[in-house]
Amino acid sequence: MSDQRTRFETLSVHGGEPRPAAGGSVVFPIHQGTVFEDAPGGGVRYIRLGTNPTQRHLHRRLAALEGAEDAVATASGMAAISTALHSVLDAGDHLIAAGSFYGGTHRFLAEHAAHLGWTYDLVDPADPRAWREALRPATTAFLTETITNPHLRVGDLAGAARFAREHGLASVIDNTFATPVVFRPHSVGFDLVCHSATKALNGHSDIAAGAVTGSAARIARVASAMGAYGCSLDPHAAFLLSRGIKTLALRVRQQNANAAAVAAFLAGHAAVAQVNYPGLASHPDHARAAALFDGFGSVLSFRPAGGAAAAAALVESMRVAYAASSLGGVESLVTHLAAGIHAGSHETPGIPPDLVRFSAGIESPEDLIADLAQALDGLPAVV
Ligand SMILES: *Cc1c(COP(=O)(O)O)cnc(C)c1O
Repeated sequence: MSDQRTRFETLSVHGGEPRPAAGGSVVFPIHQGTVFEDAPGGGVRYIRLGTNPTQRHLHRRLAALEGAEDAVATASGMAAISTALHSVLDAGDHLIAAGSFYGGTHRFLAEHAAHLGWTYDLVDPADPRAWREALRPATTAFLTETITNPHLRVGDLAGAARFAREHGLASVIDNTFATPVVFRPHSVGFDLVCHSATKALNGHSDIAAGAVTGSAARIARVASAMGAYGCSLDPHAAFLLSRGIKTLALRVRQQNANAAAVAAFLAGHAAVAQVNYPGLASHPDHARAAALFDGFGSVLSFRPAGGAAAAAALVESMRVAYAASSLGGVESLVTHLAAGIHAGSHETPGIPPDLVRFSAGIESPEDLIADLAQALDGLPAVV
């Protein structure tokens, strides 16, 4: 494990960087231009196609991080997921969607699959029998997620990639919650790995971006869908994302440690009824996560003993963590998920009314625990 760790820290800084450096600059420049002179044998270099030099530099960085041949960066995580699905599904095709899924992914399938001519079944990511039962002659693709939102379940990921390969399906995984620091899905055989780079890959809550990694042939199909829909990443945002990735390993390791400390604190607190974090020995998927992962991620969810009213009061009384519903950034965020749904956020429907999600930032773990302690102590006692 320590070898892999050293490699990943180095990869965050150097992966995909040209050597010798472009123009001698250790920081790759921002080429804001929309179009470039044709290079001999080089193809069209145009901003919407993602072939501007700063965009292609980021693609090489992303591919290196996930251990893939190639990558594309998109204008958001949803652009990454939707274009990845476009690259593996034609009209008439069927998708096995094994997960509980981010709300935006849910909505994309629920509202757009039918008019695209796709059908899909939502199945349990931890139950291979359910995948087999969902299989049809028209099935061409399998979609899952590394760590589910908001219950933090970890499915049989190696088994899922194997299942897809055995049945000739393209396997696609949303690796946003794990990041390549924790898990690199290509290493167990996934074909396409998607990210909301808006979250931990960038890490500073200041751009929207997405990424898809895979073989050169598969990425060419994703890039074609991206060009058709016009959702490449602007070069200035590409520069910021490439910069954010320099500190990915450092940030995510601190965030994982903070999430583990917060989860242990909450699990021992009388005003907390349940904590969902794969790093806890009590989590149903702990053994699987421990075998596959390096760290357990920066997100956890929990249910205060006092129900939905306690969840709402707790979130409001946090002083260090912001009450806001994203994840993966350097600042801790806390969200009362059911309240977000009523407010029209992109959260998954059907979640418990008292569920609180905590995304650990890079603050001092003592300060995060003290913040939660004061918020929990301020709740009315449950009798
Ligand atoms: C945020 C998120 C997305 C969507 O990403 P955007 O950048 O907001 O489009 C997709 N999947 C997961 C797991 C996410 O957390």
